[in-house]
This record gives sequence, C-alpha cells and structure tokens, in this order.
Amino acid sequence: MSPSRSIALMGATGSIGTQTLEVLRREPNAFQLVSISGGTNVHELSVIAKEFNVRHIGVSNEQSATALRDLVGPDVQIEVGSKGLEVLSSSADIVVNAVMGFAGLPVTMAALSAGKRLALANKESLIAAAPLVEKVRQTPGAVILPIDSEHCAIHQALASSTSQKPYPDVRKIILTASGGPFRGWSKDRLAVVTKADALAHPTWSMGPKITIDSSTLMNKGLEVLEASALFGVEVDRVDVVVHPQSVVHSMVEYIDGSVIAQLSMPDMRLPIAYCLGLPGRLDHAWGKLDFTSGLELTFEAPDRSAFPALDLAYSAARHGGAAPAWLSAANEICVEAFLQGMITWQSIVQTVSSVMDKYVPTDISSIDELLENDAKARQLASAIIAK
Ligand code: NAD
Ligand code: MG
Repeated sequence: MSPSRSIALMGATGSIGTQTLEVLRREPNAFQLVSISGGTNVHELSVIAKEFNVRHIGVSNEQSATALRDLVGPDVQIEVGSKGLEVLSSSADIVVNAVMGFAGLPVTMAALSAGKRLALANKESLIAAAPLVEKVRQTPGAVILPIDSEHCAIHQALASSTSQKPYPDVRKIILTASGGPFRGWSKDRLAVVTKADALAHPTWSMGPKITIDSSTLMNKGLEVLEASALFGVEVDRVDVVVHPQSVVHSMVEYIDGSVIAQLSMPDMRLPIAYCLGLPGRLDHAWGKLDFTSGLELTFEAPDRSAFPALDLAYSAARHGGAAPAWLSAANEICVEAFLQGMITWQSIVQTVSSVMDKYVPTDISSIDELLENDAKARQLASAIIAK
C-alpha cells in the first residue's frame, strides 16, 4: 500500500471543508489530516480536531485563539491570522483551499511557493492574484488541481489533448451554468427578489457567498476568469452555456469538432476526491448517474441582459492587470451588503459595474500592489453603497 499523504484543510468548517472531511472519513489509510483552519468557528474546529486527532489549527484572530485554547488544551498548536494560514499551508503534501473569498490568498500563495499540491476551491485568490500565482506555480512540485466542479471537469476533459498549455488543439472551453434560481426571469421580476429567493439554489447546496454569486451569474463570470488563469486559455476561447440539470459539469471542444464532457450528479465530493486521489481515482462513486431513469440534458444561451455580471467578467479579463481583482473585491463587498439587507439584489452587479467604470489600468507585480488594489475596489464599492 502506498504511504498516506498529509492534508492541510483550510476553511474546514465550511461547505467544501465539511465535504472534504466526508471524503477523508472514507479513506483513513490513504490520507492523514494534519492541520485545519476555520475563521472564528472554534467549536466546530475543536470537534474536527478531536475526531481526526489534528494538532495544528488556524483561526482568524487572538480572541478565537484564546477560546480555542480552552477547548483543545495545551497539546494543540494554534496559528492566528493570515500569517498562520501561510504556516499551515506550507507544511502538508496536499493543501485544500476551501476558505471563502480573498481571505484565501495566503493559502494559495504559500502552498504553491512551498511546492505543494493545491486542491483549489477558493477561486477568488486565483482570479485576483493570477499574475502572481502564475509565477509561484513554477516552483518545483507545485501544482493546482481545481475542486470547482466545472474546472475539475475541464481538467479531466483536457486529458484528451495531445498538446500543452495553451492547448492549440482546443477550440473552446465550454463552462456549464445551472442558471441559478432566477433562470428565465425578466428584469422586472428580478427587481423584487428577496434574500431567501437568492439563497435557494436549484441544484447545489453551498456557502452563502457563492450561492448569491450563482444567482447573479457572477459566479460563472468568476469561473470564466478562473478557467483562463488555470488553463492558460484566453477568455475568447471560454464560452458559457446554461444547463439547468447540472449533470454535464463542463466540456472541451477540440479543433476537429469533438466535444469531451464530464458528467455526474451534482456532488462536490467527486471533484474533491479527484483532487486528493490523483494520480489514481478513489473507489467511491459520488454523484453516480442512472441513465435508465429518464435523464434529460438541456442547454440554452445565458440571458446576458438580465445577468450583466457575465459580460463584466469578460471585460475585466480583457483588461487584465488588476481588473479581475477589482471585480472580485467589489463583488465581495456588494454580496455582503446584500446579505446584510443594505442593498437590493440588482444593486449587487450595478454597484460592481460602477466600481469597474472607475478602473484605471494597473499592473500587479507584488502582493502589496494586489492588496492596495483590493482595498481600493472595496472602498469604492462601500462608498457607493453608503450613498
Ligand atoms: P463557506 O462560507 O461555507 O465556508 C468558508 C470557510 O472559510 C469557513 O471554514 C470559514 O470559517 C472560512 N473563512 C471565512 N472567512 C474567513 C477569513 N476571513 N479568514 C479565514 N477563514 C475564513 O464557503 P464554501 O461554500 O465552502 O466556499 C469556499 C470556497 O470554495 C469559495 O471560494 C467558493 O467560491 C468555492 N467553491 C465552493 C463550492 C461549494 O459547493 N460550496 C463549489 C465551488 C467552489
Ligand atoms: Mg463552480
């Protein structure tokens, strides 16, 4: 039997984090969970630490560290803040980045700089820091495997390619989108959607931020940027098609017209297991399909006028530089404001669009420049919301 591989699970208490734990429970000999982090969720962290005998934990602040210390005792080492995430993310064979939002940046950068396998759910760090990630992923041993289901599908479909990045034999990457809870809705109807409407995703159960992003199609826009950064394919070769059943998780169209797709029922444990298991596959059929029960697969064009987030993302991609970081940062602020009841659903993307109107072309060549741009876009979004 091959030796067990160590896992650092950052964002262990969230939706992807808990599903990763489910995969690890099934494979106690193949993997050893050695470190976890989870914002300020100290009780959940202490329960996970006890079950998996984890001795190294990260939390967001000193207050959470003190509370956690009382729960886990002196044998457990506790790390704090983004520096803590860096320490944890450079000391395991496989680092799972399941942190929510831009806060996942230290995990992505530290794991790749240390030459680790990065199993990446946190798309925001890759999108914002694409030029910096491109450099650190050259570190010997460093590799990014995508947990995001569409990109995991593309990773599998690209195994048919006979070329390398940027894949000259690929005509198109075709990202599928469920269309979210508001597929087919008119602009007038969209003007009055509530938080509960937006949180009711038809096919996936996920954390609140990505659920709202799915309702605006900003998630798909971010995924266009993610695909381009991951696979080195310019965005004009990345298409989006709405596929309400969420069974075809994405496709690659080759220059000879062949289309290779990956299919399963929607279940994030499948892409998680894929990213942990490579170069082999784990023997658990998550999301297994039944082709005899009237499975129907339909596809349609996205409504770009009712869901302008998609074109905003393409525009940010064409700008390059700090534009994707601005888009993602402004969106984080607006989604949080919507969840807090401060703005309407349509104002989310309208506000992001107003922020992008103020974008001045800027390159990103260091973390400090990225942090400055992230802060600038957040300030602009907050100022518009406060008006
Ligand atoms: P979630 O909100 O359920 O969990 C987020 C985790 O990050 C929690 O453990 C939380 O404690 C931690 N966290 C939040 N803010 C933090 C901070 N400031 N510092 C440190 N830790 C912090 O989110 P999720 O739905 O699991 O999504 C996580 C990431 O995976 C996101 O980037 C999302 O886009 C991506 N993703 C999720 C899904 C899904 O099915 N949930 C699918 C594809 C991609
Ligand atoms: Mg996705």
